Amino acid sequence: MSPPKAYAGKILRVDLTTGRSEVFATERYAGRFLGGRGVATAIYWEEVPPEAPFDAPENRLIVAVGPLCGMSGGLGGSRWGMFAKSPFPAAARGNGDRFCYGNLGGAFGAELRFAGYDGLVLQGISARPVWLEVEDDRVVLHEAGDLWGRSTLETRAALRDRVPGFRTMAVGPAGENRVPLATVLADGDASCSGGLGAVFGAKRLKAVAVRGSRRSVPIADREELRRIDAWIRSLQRGNVKVWGLDFMAHGPRVRRAPCYGCMGHCLRVRYTSRDGDAGKFMCQSRFFYLHHAWNYYGEENDVPFRANRLCDAYGLDTWEVQGLIDWLLAARAAGIAVERDLDLDLSGLGSLEFIEDLVRRISLRRGSGERLALGAQGVARTFGGSAAQLDARCDPYDPRYCTVNALLYPFETREPIQQLHEAGLVLSQWSSWAKGVPEAHVSSAVVRGIAERFWGGVAAADMTTLDGKAEAARRIQDRQLAKECLGVCDWMFPLIDLPPGNDHVGDPAIESRILSAAVGSSFGEADLRRIGERVFHLQRAVLLREGHRAVEDDELPAAWHDRPIQTHVADPDLLAPGPGGRIVSQLGRRIHRRDFARLREQYYVLRGWDVPSGLPSRDALEALDLTDVAADLEARGLLVPHPRRPGWSRRLRRAWERLGERRRCLDAATGRAAPPPGVSLRGEELRALLEAERAKFGLAAVRRNFRGWNKIMQYHFPDIGEYWVLRFVDGEVSPPERVERPVAHPDIQYEMDTRTLRAMSNRELSGEKAYLTRRLRIRAAFADLLKLQSLNRL
Ligand code: SF4
Repeated sequence: MSPPKAYAGKILRVDLTTGRSEVFATERYAGRFLGGRGVATAIYWEEVPPEAPFDAPENRLIVAVGPLCGMSGGLGGSRWGMFAKSPFPAAARGNGDRFCYGNLGGAFGAELRFAGYDGLVLQGISARPVWLEVEDDRVVLHEAGDLWGRSTLETRAALRDRVPGFRTMAVGPAGENRVPLATVLADGDASCSGGLGAVFGAKRLKAVAVRGSRRSVPIADREELRRIDAWIRSLQRGNVKVWGLDFMAHGPRVRRAPCYGCMGHCLRVRYTSRDGDAGKFMCQSRFFYLHHAWNYYGEENDVPFRANRLCDAYGLDTWEVQGLIDWLLAARAAGIAVERDLDLDLSGLGSLEFIEDLVRRISLRRGSGERLALGAQGVARTFGGSAAQLDARCDPYDPRYCTVNALLYPFETREPIQQLHEAGLVLSQWSSWAKGVPEAHVSSAVVRGIAERFWGGVAAADMTTLDGKAEAARRIQDRQLAKECLGVCDWMFPLIDLPPGNDHVGDPAIESRILSAAVGSSFGEADLRRIGERVFHLQRAVLLREGHRAVEDDELPAAWHDRPIQTHVADPDLLAPGPGGRIVSQLGRRIHRRDFARLREQYYVLRGWDVPSGLPSRDALEALDLTDVAADLEARGLLVPHPRRPGWSRRLRRAWERLGERRRCLDAATGRAAPPPGVSLRGEELRALLEAERAKFGLAAVRRNFRGWNKIMQYHFPDIGEYWVLRFVDGEVSPPERVERPVAHPDIQYEMDTRTLRAMSNRELSGEKAYLTRRLRIRAAFADLLKLQSLNRL
C-alpha cells in the first residue's frame, strides 16, 4: 500500500545531545501505520531498545499527527499525540519503565503540520536545559537556563515574547524533576499525561515552539468533506449531554475553546475566574477538587479552578492527583497513619493552601513529596499490606459498572480514556434516559442497536454479564487506535448515536469516508479497523518486549475482583441496561476472577493469540503484515507459531459453569438493608422532619451554594406510598408539600423508608451509610449531587 497523498511527507528528527537535526520520509511508515499513533509506535519499535530506561539517551520523545491534521472546516482531525518510554507505568504498576502516550487537542499539532512535518522525534540528552524552536526548515536549540524552574504558564508566556505567533508546549517543575505524574502543557492548555513531562525533564528539554508558513492542507475531495460536515451539523448532536455535565459548557465566565478545525461539540471551554485569570477548565480537571472546595468553604468559589491551574502550572496530572487524594482519604478511613507518615493534615483538604502545598511538594519532590510523586498506587505500595489493596479511585468507567470496558484496561500502560469513552459515553447518555430526562434519546433499544452495529452483537448491551464483551473490546480497541492514527477526537467519533432518525444508531463508517475524501484513496470501515488492529498488535509486541508478562499482567486491579462497587461519581444508583434492556442497578457488583479469566481466553482466541500463554502467533502477525515484528518476537521467545485453543471438554465445562455464573451475576446487586426499627411515620410527624430538612437550606453555610436554584426535590416514601416535594424558587425553599401524584421529572428524587428519614434526622444513621446500604436512593444531575454533598458536613 503506498501512502496517500495528504501528508507533509517528512518527519523532523532532532538530536539533543549533538544539536543536529535531519528529516526522514513519512512514507516509510504511513503505508502500514497511517499516521499519528501508528507511525509513532512504529518509530518507537525500531529505535527504542527494550532495556533502555526512560532517562536513557536512546529513549525517543515522539510527536506525531495524522493525515487530517491542519484540515479546516469543522470535522477536526487535528488531535495529536506524544509517545515515549515513560516512568509512569513503573510508578503505577511497580514494574519497569514502559511505552506510554498522551493524546492532545489545541493547535500545536496543526502548527507542526503547517511547518511541514508529520512528526517530530527527539533523541539524546542535552548537557544543559534547552528549548527548541522550529520554523519551517529552520531548527534551533536555545539555552533555557533562565526558564528552568519556571511554571509551564510562565514559560509559555516568555516564549510568546521571544517568538510571537508560535505555538508552544512546555513542562513545569514536575517535569524537570522527572515526576512520573508530570504532564506537558501545550498551546490552548492541551495537556499530555502518561508521565511524558518526566521524559522532557530527563532530556533537559524545557519547551518546544513551532510555527509554519504552509497554512493549508491539500485535501483531495473538499466537496465530499463539506457534505459530511453539513450532514453532521444537521444531526444537531450538540454537546454530549451526559449525567448533566453539559452545564460545564455554559455560564457567563465560560467560552468555548475548540481545537483547531473542529466544530467543538464538546465540553472544551475556557473559564475566566473572578480575578481575571483564564484557562481551560473541563471534565475531570474541573471536578477533581470541586466538592472538597465546596465542603471546605461552604460556597462556590474559584478554588477548584485555581487547583486545576496549579496542576497545569507545575505540570501535574489532575487525574493522578485526584487518585492520590482519594487514596489518602480511604487510607485514613481504614486507620492507616497517612497523615503522620506523610506529614499531611487532611483537615485542610478543600482549601487553596492544601492543594498548593500538595502540588508543590510533589512537583519539587520535597519531604513526603518524594513518595507522593509515585501516585496513589505507588505510594500505597510504600505502605504495603492492606494499604495497597484499597479500592480508592472512583473511576467513572469502572468495568464493574460498564462491563464493556473490562478488557480495555489490561492491554494499556495508562487509563485508556479514549477507548473507555466509547461505551462510557453511551452508558452515561442512557443513564439520562433511564432517569427520565425528556430529550434523552439513547434508550435501551438504542444501546442494543449500538451493540449490534459497533460492538459485534447485542449481547454486549447487557451490562450485567461479560457475554459479548471480548468482541466489543476488540472492536473498540481497533477503532480507537485507528482514530488516533487519523487524529480524530473521541468526543466526536465514532458517531455512535444520532438524535434524529428512527433507530438513533450511528454510522461506524464515517471516519473512513472522511479519510478517503481527505487523501483521495478509498478506505472502507474494515480497512481502517485493520490499521487499528495492526497498530494494536505492534503495541502488544512493544510491551511484551519491554517486559509485560502475557496473561500474568493482562489483568484488572485486584479491588475490582474483590470488592463490590459501591458508588459512581455521577450516578449513585449505578443504573445500567441489563437483560433485555431492563433497567438494573450495578450496586454491589464485582467481576469474578473466573469470569474474567474466561473472558480473557475468548479475547485471545479472537485476537489469534495463543490461549495458554497469551502470546501472539506468527499467523496473526503475518496476517496483519507484521512479519518483521513476528521475527523479532520469535527471536526473543515471545511468539508461538500457531495459536493453541482451549480443548472441547474444557469449553463444555466452561459453558456449564457459565450458566451458574450468569445466574449469580444477575442476582448480584439486589440486596438492600432492612429499614431501621420502629413504625412508619405519617402526617404531621413526617412534615416536621421534612421541615427540618428544608431548614438546612436556610443555614448560612449552605444557603450560598443553592443561590438561584429553581428545582423540584421529590421524596418518595414507599413504606407509606406517599410523595412529598420541596420547591426551590431562586434559592428559596417552600414548605414541604404532599402531592397526590408524583411529579413526572423532578430535578432531585430521594427514595427511602420514612424510618430511614427519621434515623438520619436523629443522627442515628448517616446519609452516607444510608446510601451505601441502599436504604436511601438518590437521582439527580451530577452538578446537583455535588451541591447536595455540602449538606453532609452539617
Ligand atoms: S470535540 Fe475533541 S477535537 Fe473537537 S474541540 Fe472538542 S476536544 Fe477538541
